[in-house]
Amino acid sequence: MIIGIPKEIKTLENRVAMTPGAVESLVRKGNEVLVEAGAGLGSGLTDEEYAAAGAKMVTAEEAWAAEMVIKVKEPLPSEFKYLRKDMILFTYLHLAAAPELTKALLDAGTTSVAYETVKSADGTLPLLTPMSEVAGRMATQVGAHYLEKTQGGRGILLGGVPGVYPAEVLVLGGGVVGTNAARIAMGMGARVTILDLSHQRLQYLDDVFQGRITTMMSTEPNIRQMVQRADLVIGAVLLPGAKTPNLITRDMLPLMKEGAVIVDVAVDQGGCIETTHATTHDNPTYVIDGVVHYGVANMPGAVPRTSTFALVNQTAPYALRLAAKGVAALKEDPGLALGLNTWDGNLTCPAVGAALNIES
Ligand code: NAD
Repeated sequence: MIIGIPKEIKTLENRVAMTPGAVESLVRKGNEVLVEAGAGLGSGLTDEEYAAAGAKMVTAEEAWAAEMVIKVKEPLPSEFKYLRKDMILFTYLHLAAAPELTKALLDAGTTSVAYETVKSADGTLPLLTPMSEVAGRMATQVGAHYLEKTQGGRGILLGGVPGVYPAEVLVLGGGVVGTNAARIAMGMGARVTILDLSHQRLQYLDDVFQGRITTMMSTEPNIRQMVQRADLVIGAVLLPGAKTPNLITRDMLPLMKEGAVIVDVAVDQGGCIETTHATTHDNPTYVIDGVVHYGVANMPGAVPRTSTFALVNQTAPYALRLAAKGVAALKEDPGLALGLNTWDGNLTCPAVGAALNIES
């Protein structure tokens, strides 16, 4: 199959859809891979590395003319002209929030497979998990930074030093983001408490951390008690398909310490703290009631090289199967079939249909 890897054109998007290693695997299987010149530079991957892996370096038009186009972000309006019926598009799409793009894909008859709706046999979302891992680990790193006095924080070192008490870190939600945030916080020497609604999840966390972090049921009284002690709060709650609940309400903010920091990773789904709103890497924080709020909605964008490799580790095996069998690969794997969002002018993802009020 002829596979195209265009350069991402969304503002501040520095990831690329395939690494030279993944390109080499595709070429070894007999595919022709067309990479737009400069596509990997934001992730520190040069055209020479791609060429050495067997790619042909091309223009955007040539990459988009391929039989399968693999991307990171959804096509932007300036790219709609490249959408065709005889192509597979494999990328993050998030169509439920993108009626214009959905229409463009349906009008063109494109076969689109969205990363975010592909499922594993165990029901998890394998192509979303790597970005949650990155964001979770980053959340603690970012929190530690903003706890510094010069950044508006309390002037606390996350791990303390011998003879001085470390920071208290409160993690709301013990899923992929929360577990990764807790792991780094614990590794840096902080005292960590994770709250979750699922007893089974709390049991798992207690088991894997062997009692080195505290687990608590996520109830309003527990949250109210713990926010008063926290130096750093990390929001990592997800209710699939629903708006994230506000676990820390506006009235709880004055209870928090002056210079405490909130990193609300869940901000992309509305956030789990009432006072957080989405911010950007250019201007990531703001202060309310003396509490520093960080609400960057695309945290992995700050570490594109790590994020590119983390994403491609997960997407490459699917790309290899799609390249080998085309749409027939979807028939063989019901989890991959769930990734199909549009096909031959039809919307094939019920959740997107419900969100956009289009029959699917
Ligand atoms: P996940 O499904 O793995 O974990 C969510 C956890 O929240 C689950 O353990 C669930 O039991 C728990 N939960 C649900 N309701 C709760 C409540 N009331 N109190 C406490 N816990 C509760 O999800 P994830 O992959 O860890 O993602 C978490 C959030 O981070 C999502 O909103 C996701 O979109 C977001 N995210 C943001 C970025 C970013 O750059 N900002 C990057 C990746 C993920």
